[in-house]
Amino acid sequence: MELYNTLVHKKSGFKAIRQKEIRMYSCGPTVYNHAHVGNFRAYIVSDTLRRVFEHLSYKVTHVMNITDVGQLVGDGNLGEDKLKQTARIEHKSAKEVAREYERLFIKDIKKLNIEMPSVIARATDHIPQMLNLIEKLDKKGYLYRAETGMYFDTSKFGDYGKLSGSDFKRLNASLMGGARVERPAGTRNITDFAVWRFSPADEKEMVWDSKYGRGFPGWHIECSAISMEYLGDHFDVHTGGVDHIQIHHQNEIAQSEGATGKKFVNFWVHNEFLKVNGSKMSKSLHNTYTIEDLEGMGISPQGYRYFVLTGHYRSIMNMTVDALKSAQRTIESIYSFIERISGSMPEGVPEKEFGAEIKKLGQEFFRRMEDDMNTPEALASMHALISIANKRNASRKLSNGDRDAVVAVLLEMDGVLGLSFKEHTATKPLSAEPRRLIEEREYARKSGDFGSADEIRRELRDRFGIIVEDTKDGPQWRRK
Ligand SMILES: [Zn+2]
Repeated sequence: MELYNTLVHKKSGFKAIRQKEIRMYSCGPTVYNHAHVGNFRAYIVSDTLRRVFEHLSYKVTHVMNITDVGQLVGDGNLGEDKLKQTARIEHKSAKEVAREYERLFIKDIKKLNIEMPSVIARATDHIPQMLNLIEKLDKKGYLYRAETGMYFDTSKFGDYGKLSGSDFKRLNASLMGGARVERPAGTRNITDFAVWRFSPADEKEMVWDSKYGRGFPGWHIECSAISMEYLGDHFDVHTGGVDHIQIHHQNEIAQSEGATGKKFVNFWVHNEFLKVNGSKMSKSLHNTYTIEDLEGMGISPQGYRYFVLTGHYRSIMNMTVDALKSAQRTIESIYSFIERISGSMPEGVPEKEFGAEIKKLGQEFFRRMEDDMNTPEALASMHALISIANKRNASRKLSNGDRDAVVAVLLEMDGVLGLSFKEHTATKPLSAEPRRLIEEREYARKSGDFGSADEIRRELRDRFGIIVEDTKDGPQWRRK
């Protein structure tokens, strides 16, 4: 498989560290508000990547964190804790807020057919691991004490800036030149970040004692500690949105490699932004949509997932109502095709070339998926398959074996697409008795014995729960 690696800024051949196993980490949500569909693009992308690995027969250990403490409203070092802010506004405890939005996040993940990570780890359950890592960094001389917390001195980590294709000096100079010169008192460099923040003396919630003083962990230390806890010091893949490259992921690398002296992650995979009507989707601009909002507009979670897959994960996508509606129409037409073909009673004879064409399009689909997850092109292969099978079915030339092959290839494709094709097949093959009855009915109908045909149709419905309908493409059956 070829995969674009942000660390080396190019596409390269993927190689797992261990044989047949891939260890993968995805930055999870900060559970202080509804996740919006832009956030879910990242989770659909990492899920698709995981599914491609699984299709290649790797066992994937996938870890995701839940940030239920410590992420500030300001992008970097300043501002109030987002969770505490919501708790104050909603008159709840920070913990109640975190659990509620975590529950809603998992609900949406399930709706979107995103496979559950092998481990979902809450930050608040891993404070000792974070403090352990902080102590290691302290011993190695990476940390210093400032007014608001313990900070990581980024000038001491030689590779700082590598992920974003820059370096420590250039990053600090460019940030100096920008508007974001405000920084916490006593800090040395603009890129320095807190690993441990001190809490005000009267703070009762979300605080822990440590040798550095009462406080709570910084956001970045959470991902370093949790990923290494479950995946080891050195693992295969780390995913996230491009917005995390410059600060969050760069800081994760500095902390992890600073502490272990080893390379942290082999492949960094980043997805681009999802815009809405041409502008950035953001809570402060009030243009965010939740999965529920889309459902209210008649866009199913699968319709949204399909929409996301129509764009390459490294391209900026623009979400508009028209684009979503068109994706919804397409997914519905795919479903109705699958229902139609899997319930068809083909009469054609098998043809070698057609069988070969089905196989070829299936292989092309997976080749494209394994080429840096080229989902738009892979979907084109899938649509080509649907189109030729549809034509053949309509002209009554499809054979039983070809019908089964088309359905099998589509289901295999769906193993990586995650679009619920299986739920739309007349899944379990018919047992001998109803199959015989359908054939008998067809014989009766063709001989003009419509009375018997109707009687058998009723028997199929009442005894087997099978509905038979005569369509212009021949008789079709489905389960009640
Ligand atoms: Zn993270």
